[in-house]
Amino acid sequence: MFKKVLIANRGEIALRIHRACKEMGISTVAVHSTADSDAMHVRLADESVCIGPPSATESYLNIPAILSAATLTDADAIHPGYGFLSENANFARIVEEHGIAFIGPSSNLIAIMGDKVAAKEAMKKAGVPVVPGSDGAVATARDASKIAAAIGYPVIVKAASGGGGRGMKVVERAGDLESAFNLAATEAKANFGDATVYIEKFLGQPRHVEVQVIADGKGNAVHLFERDCSLQRKHQKVLEEAPCPILDEATRQHIGKVCADAAGRIDYLSAGTFEFLYENGEFYFIEMNTRIQVEHPITEMICDIDIVSEMIRIAAGEEMSLRQQDIAINGHAFECRINAEDPTTFAPSPGRIEEFHAPGGLGVRVDSALYAGYSIPAYYDSLVAKLIVHGRDRDEALMRMRRALGEMVVSGVSTTIPLHKRLVDDPSFIANTYDIHWLESFVATD
Ligand code: ADP
Repeated sequence: MFKKVLIANRGEIALRIHRACKEMGISTVAVHSTADSDAMHVRLADESVCIGPPSATESYLNIPAILSAATLTDADAIHPGYGFLSENANFARIVEEHGIAFIGPSSNLIAIMGDKVAAKEAMKKAGVPVVPGSDGAVATARDASKIAAAIGYPVIVKAASGGGGRGMKVVERAGDLESAFNLAATEAKANFGDATVYIEKFLGQPRHVEVQVIADGKGNAVHLFERDCSLQRKHQKVLEEAPCPILDEATRQHIGKVCADAAGRIDYLSAGTFEFLYENGEFYFIEMNTRIQVEHPITEMICDIDIVSEMIRIAAGEEMSLRQQDIAINGHAFECRINAEDPTTFAPSPGRIEEFHAPGGLGVRVDSALYAGYSIPAYYDSLVAKLIVHGRDRDEALMRMRRALGEMVVSGVSTTIPLHKRLVDDPSFIANTYDIHWLESFVATD
């Protein structure tokens, strides 16, 4: 097992990884920018190294600085968390080449899954159902028109290298395709350095359902069932739950098995997530995330499995201890992503935290790096806390979430807590009748 892990991230996920390491008897190295000298992950880690100025490109994305920190502190592994360098195949390759373990899949697999066209291709081969669309990249607007006519409008033009909900254009009718195609390609080139785009059928009322897998690269792969992440704003998840309340048991077992089998077939190693849109009883693969996800705690709560520890064990070369027949769903879990943002305009709200009170009690978990007196820097993502609850069933978990939101205090900055309070009382949310587009209109009614 590793002796020392460098955590190449910040905020709540850096703390989450630190906690897993401590419980495994592993010491931790935090890296931080000059804007994060007082951050909780720096305070709690056994050692810390400043890797650059506030801008993420010069610090958390600075590969030479992170590698120097790992060498300097004699770390034998690096956990990238999510965001930043977590899905950067080049980073994973350089880490491997330096004889340091990368806690994630091989650089090769990250590269395939990072290219959505290649990912869809690989998944089709591995027996996973995908969204109908172009078979691979689309070169010209003329080709795009032919494909769109064949699959039928509306369609969505997507950047092969896109991510984080960016680089997508919905096209309702044939007359708009050429300009949308050209704009998508130009924007893809400007934002992701790659003009490659592809086309998919735009699904009108799907849910977003994703399956968590863990595989050890030695042919053992299991699934940890699914999460429903349909509540999205600007293609970003806001509130998630597990399991997906609209799947029956046979469907759940089936899609879980499809994903675990596919993970085994592609020799996947580490934790990963198969994301699907689910409409009219059909699953359509959209992408695979080759890293730990923000919403992983809800799966941990219902399966009672520490996903981050499993990632660490597997990266250290251990065979997987999990057996599919031992993994069962116990109860229901929700996660509210609490951002330091105005709850109606969603404008970021950095600044000093005056008071911070985390809710507690049975079935409540708060993953956050906040503390009273901490100043949220303006340079990074606005996620500041994840409020996670577990209950014996959906109703109990929902009551618990209402109760916990009522206890939570974050003052000094604006947060999205009021939006979550409104959501957990909404009849459509309670009755489960929404799709991935619903939250946009819900937000607009405030
Ligand atoms: P990203 O990598 O940027 O997260 P995804 O391909 O995972 O991109 O898509 C993100 C979100 O965009 C999905 O959760 C869904 O809300 C929407 N989306 C993507 N593809 C489609 C589609 N074919 N039809 C309808 N909505 C889609």
